[in-house]
Amino acid sequence: MVILKTARELAAMRNAGRISQRALREAGKAVEPGVSTYEIDRIVREYIEKQGATPSFLGYGGFPASACISVNNVVIHGIPSKKQILKQGDIVSIDVGALLEGYHGDNAWTFACGDVSKEAQALMDATREALFEGIKNAVAGARVGDIGSAVQQYAEARSYSVVRDFVGHGVGAKLHEDPSVPNYGTPGHGVRLMPGMAIAIEPMINQGTHKVRVLDDKWTTVTADGKLSAHFEHTIAITSNGPVILTLAD
Ligand code: MG
Repeated sequence: MVILKTARELAAMRNAGRISQRALREAGKAVEPGVSTYEIDRIVREYIEKQGATPSFLGYGGFPASACISVNNVVIHGIPSKKQILKQGDIVSIDVGALLEGYHGDNAWTFACGDVSKEAQALMDATREALFEGIKNAVAGARVGDIGSAVQQYAEARSYSVVRDFVGHGVGAKLHEDPSVPNYGTPGHGVRLMPGMAIAIEPMINQGTHKVRVLDDKWTTVTADGKLSAHFEHTIAITSNGPVILTLAD
């Protein structure tokens, strides 16, 4: 069931979104060769808690950390570790959520660790742009398929593939609400977008096959062919004046 939010609730979500975006930026600033993903997770947790908020992911379904940190061929749900030290040329997807006064904000960004290859940079650029293509289509009266189709067309026109097994989602008092927001779809199909809906649009775009595999830890999701993957996400509100990004720093 899709839960529509009041203007007051969307304002509360903007506050949670602001904290999640600022935490993500702090994480991004810490991405450099020699730093462990554990250290980045610590920075995220400390930042969120200092704001009086709670990391949305910590303990969610048993997830053991505050941020998902997914390096190179890891698509999503990478578990931060003291043993994982970032290297020059890595691409580092960081997914962060914050819960404040009963509402979540959820966002992700892929950061370059030092200088990255031209191919890696192109994948990150295309995934970020695909997110904004999706956001542009998140207008009242359109359908979820319009968002997915826009993301898919942008990515596939550049010979990338779109992950199918994981999708975007409604956000609110729960981190994951209806509707599902796939990064693929058919224009004019799917749930109709209405003012008051809040959704996370989160393209996961692969260099090679769209197929992914979940490792034995039950979280870490990798590309089936070992090639790179990037992930960008914003939580947005559908309003009568167009899409409003809730996960903004200011
Ligand atoms: Mg999400």
